[in-house]
Amino acid sequence: MIKQKIVLRFPPHVVEQPTIYHLIKDFDLMVNILRADINPKKEGRLMMELSGSESNYQRAVEWLQEQGLQIINLEQQIIWRSDLCTHCGACTVICPTEALMFERPAMTVRFAEEKCIVCELCLRACPARAMETLVENANFG
Ligand code: SF4
Ligand code: SF4
Repeated sequence: MIKQKIVLRFPPHVVEQPTIYHLIKDFDLMVNILRADINPKKEGRLMMELSGSESNYQRAVEWLQEQGLQIINLEQQIIWRSDLCTHCGACTVICPTEALMFERPAMTVRFAEEKCIVCELCLRACPARAMETLVENANFG
């Protein structure tokens, strides 16, 4: 099994193709769309998590490249420095996936890394610089 977060860049001529349908039906992958920015007849971007067997994943990557799509593997990680966090909550307002949220009843902030889509909005929002980014082997192939 493989689980990989990627960004797909669609050239304009591919934007209206049923790409996600093929990933699910032809390659038996689970597709979890995390963010989408698709405009008909313009370049589009989809951030998603793909999971399935390694061989199906590799076949799907080759097929996507043949279709003219660019695939960016997200190996970036966001680190929450709990020692620096003042639990002000500024990041919980802007985090699009609720990876950063208040825990009740203590009303302290918690970071659920598995929900993070590495959008980096929290890095700019955090006054205490408690959010950091770690890039491991970013592959833009
Ligand atoms: S990078 Fe920060 S704001 Fe973006 S999803 Fe991850 S925790 Fe939330
Ligand atoms: S913005 Fe920074 S200091 Fe405030 S709760 Fe979020 S991580 Fe903690």
